[in-house]
Amino acid sequence: MVSTRRPGHVRSTLTGPDFLGPPGRRSARLTRPLVTAAAAALAAPLVLAAPASAGSGDNLGADLRGARPGAESVGDRLFPTLGNGGYDALHYDLGMTYQAATRTVEATTTMTAVATQNLSRFSLDFDGNTITSVRLDGGPVAFARHDEKLVITPARPIRAGTPLRLAVAYHADPRSTAFTCVVPPPATPSAWVPIDSGFVDAGQPNCEHTVFPSNDHPSDKATYTFRLTVPQGTTAVANGRLVSTFDGPDRTTTTSVYREDAPMASELTQIVVGDFTVAQVPGAAGVALRNVVSTASAAQIEPVLTQEAEQVAWMVDRAGPYPFGVYGELVPDGIDNLGFALETQTLSLFPSGFIKSNRNPVRVQRVLVHELAHQWFGDSVAPATWSDIWLNEGHATWYEDNWADPDGSNLLSQMHDAYAASDRMRAADGPVALPDTAEVMFDNNSYDGGALVLYALRQEVGDATFARIERAWQARFHGRDAGTADFIALSSAVAGRDLRGFLTPWLYSRSTPAMPGHPDWTVLPVQPAAAPSVAAAAHPARAAR
Ligand SMILES: [Zn+2]
Repeated sequence: MVSTRRPGHVRSTLTGPDFLGPPGRRSARLTRPLVTAAAAALAAPLVLAAPASAGSGDNLGADLRGARPGAESVGDRLFPTLGNGGYDALHYDLGMTYQAATRTVEATTTMTAVATQNLSRFSLDFDGNTITSVRLDGGPVAFARHDEKLVITPARPIRAGTPLRLAVAYHADPRSTAFTCVVPPPATPSAWVPIDSGFVDAGQPNCEHTVFPSNDHPSDKATYTFRLTVPQGTTAVANGRLVSTFDGPDRTTTTSVYREDAPMASELTQIVVGDFTVAQVPGAAGVALRNVVSTASAAQIEPVLTQEAEQVAWMVDRAGPYPFGVYGELVPDGIDNLGFALETQTLSLFPSGFIKSNRNPVRVQRVLVHELAHQWFGDSVAPATWSDIWLNEGHATWYEDNWADPDGSNLLSQMHDAYAASDRMRAADGPVALPDTAEVMFDNNSYDGGALVLYALRQEVGDATFARIERAWQARFHGRDAGTADFIALSSAVAGRDLRGFLTPWLYSRSTPAMPGHPDWTVLPVQPAAAPSVAAAAHPARAAR
């Protein structure tokens, strides 16, 4: 995610995720961290527990009287209620019928999963919407809702290793405000983003379960099928490849089926309905490209997207093969208040006002590259926990910075500025790999602070080794989730030496270590209360740009 309204580096610590809008803290309704800063400073990088073995599935003598409920959390310190245990989601089939007259959706989400423990009951994340039926393996099943959980109690316990198929039918109103979940920044009351002709989807990091019931944490990726039925003449697009399109029996509707066969975190789901033009554009580096733009603005939007193929080829050169079957840019009218761009998998989201105005062409291209870079860093390799958000935003910022500065002439001063601001960012938000709260996870500390860590690593190991680390990260973890400890271990393995002593303070300390190669660099003193604009303090000219 990245801001689309601010001019750019060094971003204010008050801006949000890939934030395009006015500065502002995200909602205080976001959850607080479970651990104190002191405890966190002592803690090893947090890694979610692996699912329990499903190996007892063949043990016919196992006593299911010992079956227990699946956990109603995966234990993420920034979002302690998010995610669920006891099963592994494998595939979601999302059927949605959009009714233009009421601007509402009739939906059925079918989750295919496998039990990872003997289960007496299990839960999904689901918030808002009106459930009309829940069926388990084809039959009715008892369910209950509390907070943002949908709790399923099967008539008989489910043995570990057993596949299960849960179908939830529900009615949704994308314009509803009756949700508990808060998507930061709180420009919309849910992941549904209504537009005049339909809706788009923006659920990062914690609210995609306002659109469909899911195990809504990036540590449980799944594949997806989307079956989107819309009035004839309306366009429907989702993540992945278009598989088929067919008319309804009365020829008033069209159904489009999309599949995303690469594992995807729920927060990266994109479902688009409305007046859009799907433009196939020439690909690059073997990557098929299709952009989805508001039809009314296509003539203004498409000329701004013409560097896309070049940018894809540039990223492939640096990060390795593109991890998915297709890429594209989704540019809707009517969402400019959203204020951010978002790296939804295979189809990144950009508000049309930001693209069309093109007031700062370099800034616009940076944001396009930022979301493209996330396809490798954040999507293909998802964060193991939300405390690892710097792995997403630090890398996306790093590639955005490098794209905008092909000869490297500005990178040095940019990193110098970020270094100067670093202690203040850490004082305001916590260590780079251990944000104090969910409210600060999309502050500058994850973006410029994360990119600064990558610069420090490159200074330490050299350009060639750094380039090998970046490509090895993708080769090792594509299609999976990975955390900060994984990054430190992989960097050490590629560099051929133990980098824990170097990277740990860069990632887990509140004070900024010395920058290799720049012994003269100093940090600005931490002020009693963090100033609203670190950028202005660090580099007035840059902030005013
Ligand atoms: Zn981002």
